[in-house]
Amino acid sequence: KSVGNGTLTMFRPEMDARYVAEQRLKADLRTAIEQGDLTVVYQPMYRPDGSEMECCEALVRWSHPERGFIGPNIFIPMAESMGLISEITRFVLDRACADCVSWQNEMSVSVNLSIHDLRGGKIVALVADILERYKLDPTRLHLEVTESCFMDEPVVVSATLGRLRASGVTIAIDDFGTGFSSLSYLDSLPIDIVKIDRAFVRDIGTEPRRLKLLSGIVHLSRELDLKIVIEGVETFEQLELVKKHKFADLVQGYIFSPPIPANAIAELSQKTTSGRRLAGRQNRRD
Ligand code: C2E
Ligand code: MG
Ligand code: MG
Ligand code: MG
Repeated sequence: KSVGNGTLTMFRPEMDARYVAEQRLKADLRTAIEQGDLTVVYQPMYRPDGSEMECCEALVRWSHPERGFIGPNIFIPMAESMGLISEITRFVLDRACADCVSWQNEMSVSVNLSIHDLRGGKIVALVADILERYKLDPTRLHLEVTESCFMDEPVVVSATLGRLRASGVTIAIDDFGTGFSSLSYLDSLPIDIVKIDRAFVRDIGTEPRRLKLLSGIVHLSRELDLKIVIEGVETFEQLELVKKHKFADLVQGYIFSPPIPANAIAELSQKTTSGRRLAGRQNRRD
């Protein structure tokens, strides 16, 4: 009746059950954030020949007390809708910088930002604070943003990223090619690195046209002086092609390592590398 005269709404019990489950999960997420139950794991990015680990990406994890592992693809959008994403960003940034310093090498660490982090200018001060707290060289912090961040508010987002980059931080565009991207972004945004989405590497061994497409994206990015990371390399065949065609500065994917805890990164990096930075600042565009 409250919806209005003559309106008929069907009630389906599973709708209700799903709603209740979601509300419960949201409440649990709030509690997890408050109690510090989230953790961070890291996935290495290697030179294609595997000789050196130069950087690793911080990825947040939530182990629910009853439901077990819940992926960030589920809870990050929830946190965004609940206005809690900035808490997660703050936590991951802090953890990542602390861990990066503890590794005692020159490796960089890469942290994902949400569109919500880029709307206001707060993120600029937050990043500066954390870098100062851990005495971490700004060039060793990379921030990843997705293309979709630029669609809604391109002017504000570019301005914020510009300020971050001016402070010395390296900016990467994540999942490149999956959004409703415009190639002109590559030239107009303050970015240093392109992370090409795994969708572009998946079939390069079997479909010649996919190989050509990847090749095109890579060449364009290089022409614009951007560093290239290829995500989601899973097989030897894919890696061999990436090496043969010199497609990437760095490779991130299960072929080298899944995301692992901070102490495991320390051990791995001792085996392979003293750690050197990906983003040479010498030829960046300002
Ligand atoms: P992303 O930033 O593109 O991160 C890469 C995702 O691909 C990770 O999933 C990683 O585990 C997965 N991956 C890495 N190598 C491979 C591979 O070889 N094959 C396949 N199939 N997958 C691979 P994860 O950790 O589940 O994260 C999913 C997404 O959630 C991330 O995508 C990112 O958008 C978001 N996310 C994760 N952590 C954070 C965070 O701290 N803050 C924010 N704002 N978003 C986060
Ligand atoms: Mg990422
Ligand atoms: Mg990605
Ligand atoms: Mg992704």
